[in-house]
Amino acid sequence: MKTIPFNKPYLTGHEFEHIRDAHKQGQLAGDGSFTKLCHAWLEENTGCRKALLTHSCTAALEMSAMLIDINPGDEIIMPSYTFVSTANAFALRGAIPVFADIRPDTLNIDENLIESLITPRTKAIVPVHYAGVSCEMDEILEIAKKNGLFVIEDSAQGICSSFKGTALGTMGQIGCLSFHETKNIHSGEGGAILINDSSLIERAEIIREKGTDRSRFFRGQVDKYTWIDLGSSYLPGELIAAFLYAQLEESYEITERRLKSWGKYHKAFKELERCGKLMRPVVPSYANSNGHIYYIILDETINRDALIEKLKLKGIDTVFHYQPLHLSPTGKKLGQTKGNLPVTEDISRRILRLPLWIGMDEQQRVMEGIAEVIM
Ligand SMILES: *Cc1c(COP(=O)(O)O)cnc(C)c1O
Repeated sequence: MKTIPFNKPYLTGHEFEHIRDAHKQGQLAGDGSFTKLCHAWLEENTGCRKALLTHSCTAALEMSAMLIDINPGDEIIMPSYTFVSTANAFALRGAIPVFADIRPDTLNIDENLIESLITPRTKAIVPVHYAGVSCEMDEILEIAKKNGLFVIEDSAQGICSSFKGTALGTMGQIGCLSFHETKNIHSGEGGAILINDSSLIERAEIIREKGTDRSRFFRGQVDKYTWIDLGSSYLPGELIAAFLYAQLEESYEITERRLKSWGKYHKAFKELERCGKLMRPVVPSYANSNGHIYYIILDETINRDALIEKLKLKGIDTVFHYQPLHLSPTGKKLGQTKGNLPVTEDISRRILRLPLWIGMDEQQRVMEGIAEVIM
């Protein structure tokens, strides 16, 4: 029996064509014609003011920390239930991640807890749109405005998802996307920073180009370029952009197909939810999701490790995440947590993520396998 892998990166079949074109054009460093196509696609399809490709979402988050002038001791409010990059990007500049608990329905930051964590040192809120399902952005944006805070959306999982019709990553001053191969749209490794506040655009270009005004130079706005600010190298080469463009061109079809598989799981697990064996994901009416992750929250009586082992024997790969950041060695050392984060700790022990990838025709086997083991 062949094992059903947890993930299998999707290929549209047009990636090589574009890579061949890029090769023929002979400009393989960044910001060539394919990068421009990706930027235009992202700007048109998300409505952000400016999109810039980066090596990863991690890189986009690091750029964000530089762009909002993070200083040592600044406090950044974020969920503990997230990937390490959300915290690392700010901690690298000496900021203190302040960990908030999550909502038990969407597993997104609990907006009702944010205000109690704000101090005079708070600089930004970083909502993470888990599984491509939007956070409660009205409340978060309101709190940020009232307290003069930046909002940096970790929208790593959020491509083609929206909140009340607005694309994820375009509501905060900055949004960060991931094109890692585990995400819906990918280029192996890859990412983008979406700038929604025009006053940050020029400096974003400079930071991304090693602290130089090289972008202005290429536009003919200055006759030489020089070192004018701190920066690093955050732009990917053209081969990555060529690959990514093939995926962006098909992103609506990709999203549709993922949503279809997501819906199949959702329907199948209704009965097990009714029996109290598990809880299914919740997508609030304000959110349009992209089918990035299908997860189930197992009942407390079910031993997750044993379940994963039994499913493995049936040739079904399942995984879990995240180890809460506030309980991690570095999170304890560099972060700050007020009291316990009961929902985060509970969910991280009970969540199980199921295989979901395009072209997967063994979904029935996954659904039956889980039902057999836990009934
Ligand atoms: C995947 C992911 C990242 C990191 O993305 P990379 O492109 O691999 O750097 C950051 N935050 C979240 C929530 C993610 O899921």
